[in-house]
Amino acid sequence: SIHDGQRMEERSRIAFAAAKELIPGGVNSPVRAFKSVGLTPLFMESGEGSRVRDIDGNTYIDYIGSWGPLIVGHAHPEVLKSIAETAAKGTSFGAPTLLETEMAKLVIERVPSVEMVRMVNSGTEATMSALRLARGYTKRNKIVKFEGSYHGHADALLIKAGSGVATLGLPDSPGVPESIAVNTITVPYNDLEAVGVAFSSFGEDIAAVIVEPVAGNMGVVPPQPGFLEGLRRLTQEHGALLIFDEVMTGFRVHLNCAQGLYGITPDLTCLGKVIGGGLPVGAYGGRRDIMEMMAPSGPIYQAGTLSGNPLAMAAGYTTLKLLGEPGVYEELERKSARLEAGFAANAAEIGVPATINRVGSMICPFFTDKQVVDYATAKTSDQAKFNAYFKHLLDLGVSVAPSQFEGMFVSTAHSDEDIEATIDAHREALKRL
Ligand code: PMP
Repeated sequence: SIHDGQRMEERSRIAFAAAKELIPGGVNSPVRAFKSVGLTPLFMESGEGSRVRDIDGNTYIDYIGSWGPLIVGHAHPEVLKSIAETAAKGTSFGAPTLLETEMAKLVIERVPSVEMVRMVNSGTEATMSALRLARGYTKRNKIVKFEGSYHGHADALLIKAGSGVATLGLPDSPGVPESIAVNTITVPYNDLEAVGVAFSSFGEDIAAVIVEPVAGNMGVVPPQPGFLEGLRRLTQEHGALLIFDEVMTGFRVHLNCAQGLYGITPDLTCLGKVIGGGLPVGAYGGRRDIMEMMAPSGPIYQAGTLSGNPLAMAAGYTTLKLLGEPGVYEELERKSARLEAGFAANAAEIGVPATINRVGSMICPFFTDKQVVDYATAKTSDQAKFNAYFKHLLDLGVSVAPSQFEGMFVSTAHSDEDIEATIDAHREALKRL
């Protein structure tokens, strides 16, 4: 272990107290506050490759990766170089640049269903815009989403949401008008029958089904065989659009995203995280006839002062190029499979109930012996055990998301030694439970 028994947190404590006076909860995004695990959040100073260093000087093998974007690790030299070279020529113009066309070309090449793409600044903007487009295109109002899925914090999507909403155990957020909530139908993940019922009850009114093709905000929950195919068939039968929210899975589970992995073609795709290489980016794209409904080619409005920002395009483009090198996803798969096998062996050896879900480099060890296929089964995981495990892992020098409802992200920067050290830390953390 890296710093067993001597993890310092004095500076993070002081910094957090100061931040709480000025920023709600001391953080600019709720999950960062470590509230559900009852600990002081680590204030980060730097990152390099697979490691992060907090302001108390502790280092950790990091599996948060900025919540998904950093698939090539922290401070990758080529990503930094592209940002610096681009920044030297100016940070933003609010005018088209050649890099945006290059980026669009690359995304269209890589994402099977995408014929045109529009850049935005976050995953939230991507899903919010895709939803408006789906509603404008179909001239229908209702949408179907899945319980425990998180699609960003737009009103219509903040119903029975996962991620931080699930972690904090919040009911549907105050501030979302009932008039908006009535148009969001929620059904359990992997439950085609429930989607069928929604369509037979509201079929004429349903603009779209939005789905994480691998759920990543109730922990990691893979689609069961036939689930995505069924969504494709039902949406087609009822004249609704199928939106894949690939903000997390995009370029994470496969070079061609989850849709490439599973061979399903959605009408619209939302992207974020990896596509921005650690800078603020989102994107939505899809069929040409649908995308051309967006202003200025069509009547549906969406805009952004910083959309297609040169620095974000540079970081994202460089990251995507690095991912295009031969063998990258095979290596991610190999290391992630080793991690999964190590976790499973540890749990069996120590006698801790465990279900380990994984798709590519998204992994989630649940503290339950039930199969986890949806939000209800994800919630059978023992939260108290997770919280204790989380703290032990930190003490042992491994940083994972402070919530059972988030996955771990393996990056190309994780070495075989990192993976083995993580498996050792996991075993020791389970022993200490
Ligand atoms: N969709 C999914 C599937 C996500 O995982 C997230 C963020 N975790 C979002 C949308 C929202 O993205 P952002 O935080 O960039 O707004």
